[in-house]
Amino acid sequence: INSPPNCGSGSIPEIKTTQQKSFVKNPMSDPHTIDSGLLQKLVYDALVWSSLHGLVVGDRNVQRSGSIPGVGLVHAPIALLPYSFPESHWKQACELAPIFNELVDRVSLDGKFLQDTLSRTKKVDAFTSRLLDIHSRMLQIGKKEDIRLGLHRSDYMLDENTNLLLQIELNTISCSFSGLSCLVSELHRSLLSQYKEHLGIDFGRIPKNNSAIKFAEVLAKAWMEYNNPSAVVMVVVQPEERNMYDQHWLSATLTERYPFCITTDSSGIGIQDSIPWLVLLPCQMDGIQFHLIPSNGKKLNFVLINTHNVRTIRKTLAEIDAQGKTLSDGTLVVDGETVAVIYFRAGYAPNDYPSESEWKARLLMEESVAIKCPSISYHLTGTKKVQQELAKPNVLERFLDNKDDIAKLQACFAGLWSLDDSNAVKNAIEQPGAFVMKPQREGGGNNIYGDEVKETLVRLQKEGSEEEAAAYILMQRIFPKDFPTLLVREGICYKEQAISELGIFSSYLRNKEKVIVSEQCGYLMRTKVSSSNEGGVAAGFAVLDSLYLT
Ligand code: ADP
Ligand code: MG
Ligand code: MG
Repeated sequence: INSPPNCGSGSIPEIKTTQQKSFVKNPMSDPHTIDSGLLQKLVYDALVWSSLHGLVVGDRNVQRSGSIPGVGLVHAPIALLPYSFPESHWKQACELAPIFNELVDRVSLDGKFLQDTLSRTKKVDAFTSRLLDIHSRMLQIGKKEDIRLGLHRSDYMLDENTNLLLQIELNTISCSFSGLSCLVSELHRSLLSQYKEHLGIDFGRIPKNNSAIKFAEVLAKAWMEYNNPSAVVMVVVQPEERNMYDQHWLSATLTERYPFCITTDSSGIGIQDSIPWLVLLPCQMDGIQFHLIPSNGKKLNFVLINTHNVRTIRKTLAEIDAQGKTLSDGTLVVDGETVAVIYFRAGYAPNDYPSESEWKARLLMEESVAIKCPSISYHLTGTKKVQQELAKPNVLERFLDNKDDIAKLQACFAGLWSLDDSNAVKNAIEQPGAFVMKPQREGGGNNIYGDEVKETLVRLQKEGSEEEAAAYILMQRIFPKDFPTLLVREGICYKEQAISELGIFSSYLRNKEKVIVSEQCGYLMRTKVSSSNEGGVAAGFAVLDSLYLT
C-alpha cells in the first residue's frame, strides 16, 4: 500500500486558486495526478465532513465499538472522489430494479420451484437445509403472506471486454449500506462543489441518492399497511455490529423529523426529496420553515415535518427467542411490543445461528403475522443456486409474461452453471481464472477464485463427491476495467488501482393484488483494490464510493 499523504497535520499549505499547479486538468481520469497540497486538503475535508455527518462505522480497534453506540467511531472507508460510470449503463441498471422486484415476488410464490431447485443443495449444506425446513413448514401449514415487503440490492459489474453490465448477485436479505451510501454521494457532491475551481468537475453529474430516505419510507408504508399505530418496526441485529450506524440511519429516519425540500432547483432536488444528514438538525416543532443556500447559490426552502413517527426496536435472534411470543391470532409480541414489520439485518449467515435458540426465533417470526423483510421465501429466492437456475433457458418465462422484461434480465445475466454440467466443469478446470465458484453464502469472503477453483473441482471429481458439488455454483468471472483511485481508510489516503461494483437498491411492497411500491431506491458504489477478489466493505476489502456519470 502506497504513500499515505500526511493529512490533518495542521501544517497544510494554503492553496490559492491562482496557483496553477493545484489545478488538475482531468482528476477524474487520473486522481493520482492531483498535487499533494490539494490532496491533503481534500482528504482532510472529507474526514471532517464524514465525522460531522454520520458517515461512520465502529472502529475495529476499539473493543466496545460494535455494541455501544457512540463509542469508538471512525469514518467509513471511502473513495475520495466518485467513480466515472457510463450514463447508459447506469440507466440500464435502474431500469432493471422493478423487473427484479417482480421476479422475486413471483418466484417466492412458487414453493415447489424453490424446494426443487435447492433440493440437492439441501443434502450437503446444513444452513440452507434449515432455511428450507422452515420454508417447508410454512408450505405445510398453508401460510400466506398477504403483505410482502422486499428491500433488495442488485449488484453489477461492467465487464471491460464485452462492455456489458453483468449482474453479480441479487441480495434479498440484510442489504447493507442504504444508510451510509447516500451520505457518500453527498460528501462527493460537497467536495466537488467546494473545490470546483481546482478540480473543474461538475458535481451535478453525481446522481441523486436517496437510499436511506427511500428504504425508511417503504418500511413506514409497510408499517401503515399493518395498521396498528402502537406497533413497532423490529430490526433484527447481530449481537456485535460495527456497521450499526448504517442501520441507525434508517431507524432515525423512521422516528425523527426530517426536512422536506419544497422547491426545486437545477441541482435536481425536488419535492419530497431531502438530504439525509439534515435529520441531525435540532428541532422542537413540526412545520418550521427554513432555507439553505447551497454552493450553487440557489436558495432551497425546507419544511420540517414529522413524516413517519414510527418507533423501532433492535433485537438479536437470541433476544427474540427469550422475549418473543405469538398470540392466538398470530400477532408477534417481543419484549412487550407488538411487531408490525421485521427488518432483518442478521440471520443471513450460519454464524448468526450459534444455537437452537436462534432457529426457534426465526421460526417464531415466520409463523407470525408480522410483515417480514424478507420472508423465508424471499430469502431463498436470493440464493445463488436460484440465481443460476433462473439463468437457464426458458425459466424466466415461467415467472414473467412481458417479453421485453425477460430480454432485459437475460441481457444482464453472466454465465452461470451447476456443477453437474460436466462441460462447464471441464472448462473451469482448464481455465480456472475465467470462473468464480460460489457456495450458498452471503456477506462476502466465501467464494473461490483462480487456481483454487481448479484444485477444488479436481478434488470433488476424484472423491466422486457429487453431493458436495451441489453446494456450489460456477459463474463466469467478470473483469471490470481497473482505474487509478484514492481510497481513504482510517484517516490515511492510499493511491491504488481499483475496480468497482454498482449496487442498485430497490423496494417492493404489495398487499394482496395491490402493488403499493416497486421502485429503485438509490445506489451503492463499492470500489476495491483490483488485486483483491472479494468486495465486502464490512469485511474490509472495499470502500464506499459514489458515481459520476459520463
Ligand atoms: P456475497 O453474497 O457474499 O456478497 P457475491 O456473489 O456478491 O457474494 O460475491 C462477493 C464478491 O466477489 C463480489 O462483491 C465481487 O467483488 C466478487 N465476485 C462475485 N462474483 C464475481 C464474478 N462473477 N466476477 C468477478 N467478481 C465476482
Ligand atoms: Mg450477497
Ligand atoms: Mg455480494
